[in-house]
Amino acid sequence: MSVRKISKWQIVEEGSFWPGGRFFYKHTGLTRGSEGYRRAETDSIKLDHAEYQRAKQEIEESGGARIGQQGSLALWWAEDGLYWADANLADEDVLLLIWDRLRKQNRKLDRLRKLRHSQEQLDELRRERIADEVRALVWERDEGRCVKCGTEEELQFDHIIPVARGGGNTAENIQILCGGCNRQKGDQII
Ligand SMILES: [Zn+2]
Repeated sequence: MSVRKISKWQIVEEGSFWPGGRFFYKHTGLTRGSEGYRRAETDSIKLDHAEYQRAKQEIEESGGARIGQQGSLALWWAEDGLYWADANLADEDVLLLIWDRLRKQNRKLDRLRKLRHSQEQLDELRRERIADEVRALVWERDEGRCVKCGTEEELQFDHIIPVARGGGNTAENIQILCGGCNRQKGDQII
């Protein structure tokens, strides 16, 4: 018991090519080869203007409208496209299945949005500048040299616990390293 989304389809309403408000769909997709179109399994259905409007209204009210049938399959038009459903299924059940499909999809999108948001926050934290007071404090404490090898060349402020792992821009979490020691540390973490 399921509904199947028709991935390749096209709805054309009215316009110069389709006078009178007609409706056209294809469910297999045409491939255009050297001899022209192949796989002419394309079906089409035409709805007059009144039918079209009624379907639109049903979609708005209940989430989908049954607009045709082919063999044992009913064609449904929903907010996000066309579906095939078992023609024996009650309308209510088809609408439920379509609703469930959309719900799952929205939940997934929600999760992805949250994931992206936290990733962006992390990036922002990484970019956040270490405050001048903190720099001054660390510089004084570490005596202006690399805490590992003591050189005074190519010095950098280094996060002891990386920002990506929750380390902050506090003096306790920042030390002075030279470029070489910093790169070595990076290698060890990896
Ligand atoms: Zn060093």
